[in-house]
Amino acid sequence: MGFSLDAAELDIPCPRCRFFNEVTIKQVRTRDVVICRGCKSNLRLDDHMNQVRVAERQLRESISALTGSLGSLLAIDIKL
Ligand SMILES: [Zn+2]
Repeated sequence: MGFSLDAAELDIPCPRCRFFNEVTIKQVRTRDVVICRGCKSNLRLDDHMNQVRVAERQLRESISALTGSLGSLLAIDIKL
């Protein structure tokens, strides 16, 4: 089962003009270059230390833990 944060959006401030630009996690992960909507300069996105991948893994682990506890909460008590 694939799980990905790719579609999630972030607002990142331009280092030059401080304009907040909306980018997707996927663009950060693939180190995309976006053009600042404030000053038109090229912003090279850098996923420093692969933080997206680490966050994604942590989120995936939390979700499977959550699914596990939901599963036990929702367990149906069957009596014969
Ligand atoms: Zn800018």
